[in-house]
Amino acid sequence: MAKSRTFSIIKPDATRRNLTGQVNAVIESAGLRIVAQKRIRLSDAQAKKFYEVHKDRPFYGELVSQMTAEPVVVQVLEGEDAVAAYRKVMGATNPKEAADGTIRKLFALSIGENSVHGSDSPENATIEIAQFFTDADITG
Ligand code: GDP
Repeated sequence: MAKSRTFSIIKPDATRRNLTGQVNAVIESAGLRIVAQKRIRLSDAQAKKFYEVHKDRPFYGELVSQMTAEPVVVQVLEGEDAVAAYRKVMGATNPKEAADGTIRKLFALSIGENSVHGSDSPENATIEIAQFFTDADITG
């Protein structure tokens, strides 16, 4: 499998608890390289657009307000089969179901405040990366 990229967000529950470095250590230990990274505050419009696929779900409002409450760290990760590799190290959406050693098992507070986002397909990774980074921002 060739080297590819995925999009990651370190969510507000993690930045609030000063866990950016600890999350990054797990990412790097899994063999993924952080090839772009910035700490930003998502606007309401950005969060709504990013999670538009969930707009009819009951947790949408809570999700948008949690994602805009504190800064996030948006990242581009690169590695072998990056989307699948990052999904594996993130762990299940619900931290109660996440495997040992995964970011969500180690750090998540709840199914909503689950510390990280990762793209669910290479196609979505390309779309999500383009929402926050230009090619010039990414250095492999
Ligand atoms: P992911 O790809 O593992 O992040 O999961 P999803 O795409 O299914 O959901 C996106 C995000 O919505 C999750 O990471 C959670 O932050 C949030 N979420 C999903 N399901 C629930 C839920 O049942 N309750 C709450 N409060 N948030 C949820």
